Amino acid sequence: MRAVVVEKPGTVVIKEMEKPKAGPGQVVIQVGACGICGTDVHVIEGEFPPAVYPVVIGHEFGGEVVEVGEGVTGVAVGDRVGVDPTLNCGACYFCQRGMGNLCEQWNGIGVGDYPGGGFAEYIAVPAGNIHPLPEGMSWQAAALIEPVSCVVRGFHRLQPLVGESYVVYGAGPMGLLNAQVARFNGASLVAMIDINPSRLERARDVFGFAHVAASLEELRDIAPRGFDNVIEATGVTKVAERAIDGVKRGGKLLLFGVCPPGETASYDAFKIYNEEITIMGTMAVLNSYGPAIDILAAGAIDTEQMVTHTFPIDQFNAAMDVVRSGKGLKVQVGGPAS
Ligand SMILES: [Zn+2]
Ligand SMILES: [Zn+2]
Repeated sequence: MRAVVVEKPGTVVIKEMEKPKAGPGQVVIQVGACGICGTDVHVIEGEFPPAVYPVVIGHEFGGEVVEVGEGVTGVAVGDRVGVDPTLNCGACYFCQRGMGNLCEQWNGIGVGDYPGGGFAEYIAVPAGNIHPLPEGMSWQAAALIEPVSCVVRGFHRLQPLVGESYVVYGAGPMGLLNAQVARFNGASLVAMIDINPSRLERARDVFGFAHVAASLEELRDIAPRGFDNVIEATGVTKVAERAIDGVKRGGKLLLFGVCPPGETASYDAFKIYNEEITIMGTMAVLNSYGPAIDILAAGAIDTEQMVTHTFPIDQFNAAMDVVRSGKGLKVQVGGPAS
C-alpha cells in the first residue's frame, strides 16, 4: 500500500509500505478520505514537538473496517467509521481528572508517535478510537469530523447562550467551521473578519454570512457594544491581541487559532477586570468527536462547500501546494487512487 511519510523535517515521500495487520484490540481501516490540516504543515516543517520521525501523517480521516483484531466486539468488516486520532495515556494526573487533551504524554495518530496515519491506503487503529458513521455520511464529511470536533471542544469551553452574538477572526477553513457551528448553536449574529477579500466574499456568498469585514471598525454599526463571543481563528498573535477590542462587556475571547509558541499578546488588565471579560484557550479534542458527528449529520456544516479539492494519495505533493497557496478551503486526499 502507499503511504505519505515525513522521513525527517522537510522530507515527504510517498512510499510503498506493508499493509498493516490488526493487532489485539485493533481494527484495520481502508481510508476513505483524509483532510490536510495546518498541523500537517507544522509536522512536515519540523515545527510540531510531539512528532516522532519518520511519521505517516494524516489525522482527519474516516474509512471502512477491513479487518477486526482479537478481542474487539461490536465492530464488523464493512462498517464505515470515523477515527478520533486522540491517544491519551489514560493514567497521568490530567487523564485521571478527565482532561485527556492536556495529557502529560499527549500523543495522536498521524501527528505524534504512532505507526500509521490517515494519508495511507490502510491504517490499524485502536478499536476504542473508532466511531460508527451515520447512514449516508460521505467520506468527505467523515474527514471533517476531526476539525469540527476541535470546534465543538471550543464551544464546550465557551458555553455560549442562545441568542448571543459572535465575531470570528479568520475566514479560512477553521474560521468558517466555527462560524457555522455558532449559527447552528442559536447565534443572533455571526460576523467574520479577514484581510483577504476573496475569503470574505466566499464567507458571504457561499456560506451566507452577511456581515463580513476587513476590520472590527466596519462592524461597529451592527455591534456597537461589541460581541458576546469573539473567536480568534487566525493563529496570528497580533490578531489575538487586538481581538479583545471586539469583546462586549461581560463577553468572552476564545483563542482557537494556534499562535507561535513564545510570542506575547498584551491586554489592558484593567479592562479585563472592569468589564468582566473572560479569555480562554481550547486545545484539540475532548469528548467532542461524537457530538461533532451528530451535528454534521444534523446539517450544521455545508460539507460540500467546505471541501474544495480532493486528490488521490500519489498526488499528495500537489495537494500540499494547494494548501500552501491558501486558495482552497479543506483539501482532502482519498485512500486508493481513483
Ligand atoms: Zn487537524
Ligand atoms: Zn495522560
